[in-house]
Amino acid sequence: MQAMQTAISVESSVESEQASGPHGLGFKGFPMRRFFGVDISVLRRDEAIEFCLHRLAWRKSTAIAFANANLLMHCRRDPTLSEQLRDMLVLNDGVGADLASWVLHGSAFPENLNGTDFLPALLTRLPEGTKVFLYGAEPQVAERAADILADRFPVEVCGWRHGYIADDGRVAAAIDKVGADVVLVALGNPRQERWVSENFADLAAPLVISVGAFLDFQSGRVSRAPGWMRRIRFEWVYRLLMEPNRLRRRYTVDVVQFLFAVGVERLHRKPSEVSYAK
Ligand code: UDP
Repeated sequence: MQAMQTAISVESSVESEQASGPHGLGFKGFPMRRFFGVDISVLRRDEAIEFCLHRLAWRKSTAIAFANANLLMHCRRDPTLSEQLRDMLVLNDGVGADLASWVLHGSAFPENLNGTDFLPALLTRLPEGTKVFLYGAEPQVAERAADILADRFPVEVCGWRHGYIADDGRVAAAIDKVGADVVLVALGNPRQERWVSENFADLAAPLVISVGAFLDFQSGRVSRAPGWMRRIRFEWVYRLLMEPNRLRRRYTVDVVQFLFAVGVERLHRKPSEVSYAK
């Protein structure tokens, strides 16, 4: 029954796909909640995975993004980015998105769909031999992640490029040349979402996913927080302790600004913007 409902919701989302962002590729079959101009889908993990598999099977151009507090703040400052994200399936990532959802829409999301846990679940379900291309991360990280992903998941890693070269269109050409089915883009946000927005509709690969620090985790460059910390939603504290210099601002000043921005949004929002299904 559950599987049937999932299939129905996947079908309806595909059927009712309508113009939304600059490429006119938004998805309108899912319930959504809007945050700073970004529509985040209200989905369970299995539903989102079924949707991705369906799009891949039908080779329909699909970009996926994970909205954490950091990305939402970028969207608040830059409406063009929010608009670009409206072409994508945007999933809720982390405690910041849940908190904003409580304040602005009256409840948290049904599940935390952070990329670090979502991607292994998706990669495990990909058809045997699916060709995956990695773009981003430091050179050694990307190379190691390529070996590790090919070992851990039923996929063929058909190529990779690290994320510290200026992209002059050659990365997209390389992705098409090797016939990738799935592209994982790890350039940090919002650079990765911008790159995806500018490139995904022209790539032959149907699934193009912004993955943040996923390759760092898979390669072992960055370790995950212990299970108990993840369960109480304190993984961010662990990340801050691991990389204090890089993340100090994000988890202090930026968090305060995010909470303030959510409060301001709550005060200024019209009742009709509370929550809606597209
Ligand atoms: N990254 C990159 N090029 C850049 C900036 C970042 O390839 O110009 C990579 C970085 O090496 C890391 C990934 O992007 O592998 C994610 O960066 P970050 O940890 O900042 O992302 P987040 O924490 O937002 O997921």
